[in-house]
Amino acid sequence: MIQLTENHLKEIAAHGERDYPHECCGLLLGSFNTGLKTIAEVYPISNAREEEAKRNRFLIRPEELMRGERYAQRQGLEVVGFYHSHPDHPAVPSAYDLDHAWPVFSYIVVSIMAGAARDLRSWEMEPDRSRFNEEEISARPPRAVSMKVS
Ligand SMILES: [Zn+2]
Repeated sequence: MIQLTENHLKEIAAHGERDYPHECCGLLLGSFNTGLKTIAEVYPISNAREEEAKRNRFLIRPEELMRGERYAQRQGLEVVGFYHSHPDHPAVPSAYDLDHAWPVFSYIVVSIMAGAARDLRSWEMEPDRSRFNEEEISARPPRAVSMKVS
C-alpha cells in the first residue's frame, strides 16, 4: 500500500496536465515501512527525452535522479517510487515501463485525456519482474482509495 495526501495526488495530476501532450515524470519521496510506503513529498522532474520522443516514454536522467536522491537525503527521506503521465492513454504501465522498472518501488501512472487528468493508479512490480500488480492507494484524509482526478 502507498499512503499519500490528496495534495500529492493533485500535484501529480497538475504536473501531468501542465506537460500534456508530453509525459511528465517525478520522484515520490518518503519512507518504506512494512507493507506500506508513506509519501512525504512529490519531486517533479522534467522529462529528459527529446521533444519528438516525449509523447511515448519517460526517462529520468541519472544526474536528475542523483539530484533528487541528494535532496531526499537532506530531508531525511528516501526515493520510494516514481510517477509519470500517460497522455491520452490509460493509467496502466506499458511494456516499456515494465522493462525499465525496478522491484520494491511504487510506480504511479496518471492518465491525461485531452489535457485533463482522468485517472491515477499505483503499481508495484512482481519480484520476478514479470508484471506489474496494482497497489492500493491510501489518500489522507482517508476517503478516496481509488481516486478519480478531475
Ligand atoms: Zn508509462
